[in-house]
Amino acid sequence: MKKSTGKIIAVSAPSGTGKTTIVKQMLKIFPAMIFSVSATTRAMRAGEVNGKDYFFVSEEEFKKKIENDEFAEWERFYDYYYGTYKSYIEENINKNKSVILEIDVKGALEIKKNYSSAKLIFIYPPSYEELAKRLKNRKTETEVDFKKRIERAKMELSLKDKFDYFVENKDLEKAILETERIIRNILTEDE
Ligand code: ADP
Ligand code: 5GP
Repeated sequence: MKKSTGKIIAVSAPSGTGKTTIVKQMLKIFPAMIFSVSATTRAMRAGEVNGKDYFFVSEEEFKKKIENDEFAEWERFYDYYYGTYKSYIEENINKNKSVILEIDVKGALEIKKNYSSAKLIFIYPPSYEELAKRLKNRKTETEVDFKKRIERAKMELSLKDKFDYFVENKDLEKAILETERIIRNILTEDE
């Protein structure tokens, strides 16, 4: 008999769309689901916790991890590196635990290449103007980083069709309900 494994669910969206907000809610709704804590070389934001939101590492440490083949996927994003730990995903799904990844669009597509059963959810903003407004209101980026994120959003939105599920984040409550419905279906469906 085939051993059952947990599901891999990646949630992606252009920066500022609201994926962090939505994923945090999903972890409350599905407490057994494991959040894949990525490594990053960017600076910690106010309120973030090392080992919970990310593993904050130096560029040198990150490059060593690439050499050691520790990442299921990694990317240089803006001026920083981000990577998903292979061990984090594999140890959990082998224990039949489902893992949720909050990663960028290209990273999610890379995950699907390496784990074909992974399910990809794309969250999209109602408009560019609204996306820019949310990023500005979040007040976490410098002007340069803000511009890079907005420019990248266009490329990310063009890759949307490669995803399995789509949620518009216009009204946050509705987007949360829709994402919850999708995840519930993924968690209960057979391989
Ligand atoms: P991401 O993780 O995609 O970069 P965040 O979750 O950090 O985005 O959200 C970006 C900003 O937009 C945050 O300040 C968040 O509170 C806000 N936000 C999220 N969803 C909505 C929404 N539906 N309407 C208005 N603001 C939102
Ligand atoms: P932020 O700096 O806003 O936390 O994240 C910037 C972008 O990097 C977001 O789109 C976020 O989802 C993405 N990201 C976070 N972790 C990873 C990861 O491990 N791999 C990839 N490819 N992207 C990630």
